[in-house]
Order: sequence, then structure tokens, then C-alpha cells
Amino acid sequence: MTGETVTATHDVLLIGGGAAGLRAAIAIAETDPEIDVAVISKVYPMRSHTVSAEGGAAGVIADDDSIDEHIYDTISGSDWLGDQDVIEMFVNDAPKQLLQLEHWGCPWSRQPDGKIAVRPFGGMKKKRTWFASDKTGFHLLHTLFQTSLKYGEVKRYDEWFVTKLLVDEGRVQGVVAIELMTGRIHTIAAKSVVLATGGCGKVFPFTTNANINTGDGMGLAYRAGAPLKDMEFVQYHPTGLPFTGILITEAARGEGGWLINSEGYRYLQDYDLGQPTPEPKLRSMELGPRDRLSQAFVGELEKGRTIESPYGQVVHLDLRHLGEKKIEERIPFVRELCLKYERIDPVTDLIPVRPVVHYMMGGVHTDIDGATPIAGLYAAGETACATINGANRLGSNSLPECLVFGARSGRAAAEHSRSGPAAGLSAAAAAQAADEVRRIEQDLFGRDGSESVPAIRDEMQATMEAAAGIYRTGPELEAGRQALGELTERMAKIGVADAVRPFNTELTAALELDNMLDIARSMLHAGSVREESRGAHQRSDFPDRDDDRFLTHQLVHREADGSSRLEDLPVTITRWPPGERVYGR
Ligand SMILES: Cc1cc2nc3c(=O)[nH]c(=O)nc-3n(C[C@H](O)[C@H](O)[C@H](O)COP(=O)(O)OP(=O)(O)OC[C@H]3O[C@@H](n4cnc5c(N)ncnc54)[C@H](O)[C@@H]3O)c2cc1C
Repeated sequence: MTGETVTATHDVLLIGGGAAGLRAAIAIAETDPEIDVAVISKVYPMRSHTVSAEGGAAGVIADDDSIDEHIYDTISGSDWLGDQDVIEMFVNDAPKQLLQLEHWGCPWSRQPDGKIAVRPFGGMKKKRTWFASDKTGFHLLHTLFQTSLKYGEVKRYDEWFVTKLLVDEGRVQGVVAIELMTGRIHTIAAKSVVLATGGCGKVFPFTTNANINTGDGMGLAYRAGAPLKDMEFVQYHPTGLPFTGILITEAARGEGGWLINSEGYRYLQDYDLGQPTPEPKLRSMELGPRDRLSQAFVGELEKGRTIESPYGQVVHLDLRHLGEKKIEERIPFVRELCLKYERIDPVTDLIPVRPVVHYMMGGVHTDIDGATPIAGLYAAGETACATINGANRLGSNSLPECLVFGARSGRAAAEHSRSGPAAGLSAAAAAQAADEVRRIEQDLFGRDGSESVPAIRDEMQATMEAAAGIYRTGPELEAGRQALGELTERMAKIGVADAVRPFNTELTAALELDNMLDIARSMLHAGSVREESRGAHQRSDFPDRDDDRFLTHQLVHREADGSSRLEDLPVTITRWPPGERVYGR
């Protein structure tokens, strides 16, 4: 294996071939064809998690909608933890990005008169979610991928796994990556690096996220000295299929689906979803924000009104009243998933569902342009925290987030690469690369490990579910931190038994687990200090929001000994002072 010698040099290196990474690649190629840009991805780009998004992408377009209303919904949905200047820019740019995709060939669903169709989505007062049937992510990613192919200058490293960022003199200088097909270790130098590595749902046992969503970018940035932000906010989606965690998209409720308990009762009317009057509630309660709906499930569980299933307690999603025609036309994929994975037909049967870990509001701390505190290092998409989502993301805001911030961080990274020093590694950065090769060769391959990756991963996931579920308490969070500390010590004793180099999944699983343990520890640290309930972070021991103490972001820094340190960062409030979360007015 090599690694110390530089294999390639680029102006901008994008890590990730999902929506954020590909949007950044196109933005750079469009800005200046002279810029040498490359996309590196641990899977073939079309297999990125973006492909599985179903419901849609938000952007103001309907006549009765307005930019200010989308801004307000996002701020209120974030429980006032989103930065309002960033949200304002995001909401203004989102429709432009979606229209740009239309011009690149994205087959958005239409109204009979040919205008873009929009559907209702949770926490959004107006219909503003663009969709391509219920395979929005597939069509969106395909559009970006095929567009990126137009630009021959975008070099791709498909199925390469980045294991380390090389940072010296306060700036990023490149990465170390494993070419999975051969197992060779390479060093790639770059003037700018954009992390677009997606979410980290696999930190938990039950998630809608793909197996590849292990938060690598967060782990890479954190270890390189860039702080993580808002890590205590993990979104549960209220409707996952039991056992598999496969998502039943919010579009199913957007199209009129109901949530009912063991008594066949639409139980959400008994809960405070932030809606002022009872009348509109019955019409729109299934479209309350995700955090509130997931919390209502726990309420039903406690009242004994959930339904026992082979895979734990569930409630039912009822689509039967929508009829076969509407289901086939608007949400055919929901039917397909139910038939294939549950052997039930939503046209005639109730769908068993329960809350499932879905999305990470926190991530690598960036500014409005995706810049991290490390010069030349940017982040965009789910791995970043820009921050528009605050304590709770609204459904369908994430795909446009990838587009808006992908393009923006790509342009900023290109600009940086034009002004910064020539690409190449300082002596210290080259030494870091050599250390990384040693870590993989000697610490992982070379050691006869007494601990196993699957065992530690299972324990980490169980710990996170117990410590940082829908409701949390101080003692649970502390116990979780203790357990994770012990798992981290055990992690030092793992070895990779499989000596075969090509596609060594035992090796990549070990590297991913390393990232996830850092992320898990940062989530619990931030969660234990936030003694209030806000959005997705619900502390049973501190049930109220506490703006006096906690209207603030928390940055998590990694110390030299591997421990974490928290720092407060003020939330940017511009035109919308903190208020009650009111939805469905
Ligand atoms: C089932 C599901 C449905 C969803 N539905 C919607 C929806 O309807 N609307 C909405 O707005 N949002 C939705 N979301 C959320 C949204 O899809 C994601 O937040 C978004 O697609 C993330 O895109 P991304 O570009 O940040 O990352 P991803 O699409 O996850 O891509 C990450 C990329 O990083 C690469 N990568 C990761 N680690 C490494 C490494 N170490 N080395 C090299 N490459 C690496 C991967 O190969 C991949 O190419 C959904 C999410 C899920 C899970």
C-alpha cells in the first residue's frame, strides 16, 4: 500500500456524490471551466441516500404563498433555533434552484393546466412542496448526475472512501482515501475541500437512513479541528415501517392520510401540535411538525392505545379513504413498499408505523456560504449545519437545502481555490498522511483484535436509543456518555481479521464506527447540557423551552485527548422575535 506520495492534485475536491456534492460540482464547472474539480464518493453517486427521498422539495411558487410565510414556517418549525439571515437567503433561493432543475430536465409533477403541482407538507402552512410523483429524490439526483456528466472537467473517484482530512497551517490541504476496488491508500491534495457526505442515522438502531449514512464528514471535520453544531437535535420521523425502518413518506399524510390508534381514533386531536383552534386541527393535524407527531406516539404508548406487532408497538396510518386511483397517481411508491415489505395493500389495509430516526439537524458548523472555521474547508447538505433547521427540520426543506448550499459552497470553494496558495502538502500534512497509512495498516490490519466492530456498533446503537430517544433525561444522557466512553476504549482493541484488500467491508465498517462514536458522544454531551425542551430535544426533566438560558447554538469542539468541549454561539434573530410555535393558522 502507498499513501505518502500524492496520487492526484485538484483545485476543489468534493466529498460526496449526493444532491449537495453534485450540485456543488455543477456550480463550480459553470463558474469557471478552468477550475480542476473532482467528486469522490464511497458509493456510485446514484446510490447516495438522496435517491431514496420520496416526498418532495419546498419552494414558494403558488399564487397564494409568499416568501415571508415560508421563512416564518421554517423559523417556527426550528423552534427559533434557526439563524434567520440564513433562512431568509435559503427561502429566496430555493424556488430558483428548483426551477433550474426543471430546466435541466427534472420531471416535476404538474397540475392539469401545466403549472408545477405542489403538495402540503408537515409544518408548512401553504402548499409549496414540489414533487416528482413519490420518487422525488431519484429524479432530482438523476437530473443532477446527468447534468454533471455534461462537464467533462468534473473528475470522479467512484467507490473511494475518505478516511482523513489533512489540515496544517490552519488550512485544508487534501485527504487520504482508500480506493475500494483495490484497497490501495492514496493521498489527494486539494486547495479546497467540500464535505457533502450526508447524514448519520446509523448512529441509532432504527432509522430510515441507508447503511452508508454513518456521518463520515462530521467525523472527519471534528477530528481535523472543525466544530460540530446543534448535535443534540435528531429528528424522528413519525411514520417508519416496523422492523425495516423504511420510510412511509409524509406525502402519504400530505395527500390526506390519517394516523389512528388501537381504538381507530385519530389521536392527534388530543395533543398540542401548536395549532390554535380545534376546527382546522381535524383537517390538518396529521401535518403537524415531525417532532410533535413523534412525541404524540409516545403519549399513545403511555396510554396503552398503541397496537402490539411482532416488531414492537405501532400505530396505524390509514390511507383507505383516499381510494386506489389517488394512491396510484400520487403515492404509488408507498403502495409498492407496503406490498413488498409488509405484504399489505394500503388501498384496503392499515399500515403499521412507528417513529424512526430520520434526519440530523446538527452537523459541521458553517457560515452562510458553507465555510467552516478551517480555511478551504466547506460543508453542505445534511452533513453541514448552516443553520436553517435549528431544533427541528420541516419536511421537504432538506432537498432544497442541498441545492442552495451545495451551489453556494461550491462557488465559495472555487473562489478560495483561486486565491489560496498552490495545491500541495506541507511537511506536517504529509506526515499526517503517513500516520493515517500507519493507522490503517498497523492499527487495523496489523492487530489481532480482541473486540469486534458489530458488537461495539450494536452496543453504541442501543446506548443511543436508550439515552437520546424521543424523550431524554439528564441521568439517561449521563449514563449514555459513560457507556460510550467505555465503547471508545474498547474500539482501540479492534482489529481487521479479513486480510483481503479489494472491497474490504470489515475495514470500512471499522472506520465508519470510529466516526459514529465521535458523533454519538458529541450528541450526548450537547444534549446533557441543554436543560430545556426545544424541537426534537425533549427533556422530560426540563419540559419547557428556556429562551433565557438556551436560545443559543452549542458548538462541540474536540480536545487533543479526544474529549469534547462545548461553546455557545448566539442564534441570529432578524425580523422574527421568538414566539410560540404556531402552525396551521
Ligand atoms: C428515506 C429518506 C427520505 C427522504 N425524503 C426527503 C424528502 O422527501 N424531502 C426532503 O427534503 N428530504 C428528504 N430526506 C432527507 C434528504 O433526502 C437528505 O437530507 C439529503 O438527500 C442528503 O443529501 P446529501 O447530498 O447531503 O447526502 P447523500 O445523498 O446522503 O450523499 C452522501 C454522499 O457522500 C458520500 N460519502 C459519505 N461518506 C464518504 C466517505 N467517507 N468517503 C467518500 N464519500 C463519502 C456518499 O458516497 C454519498 O455520495 C429523506 C431522507 C431519507 C433517508
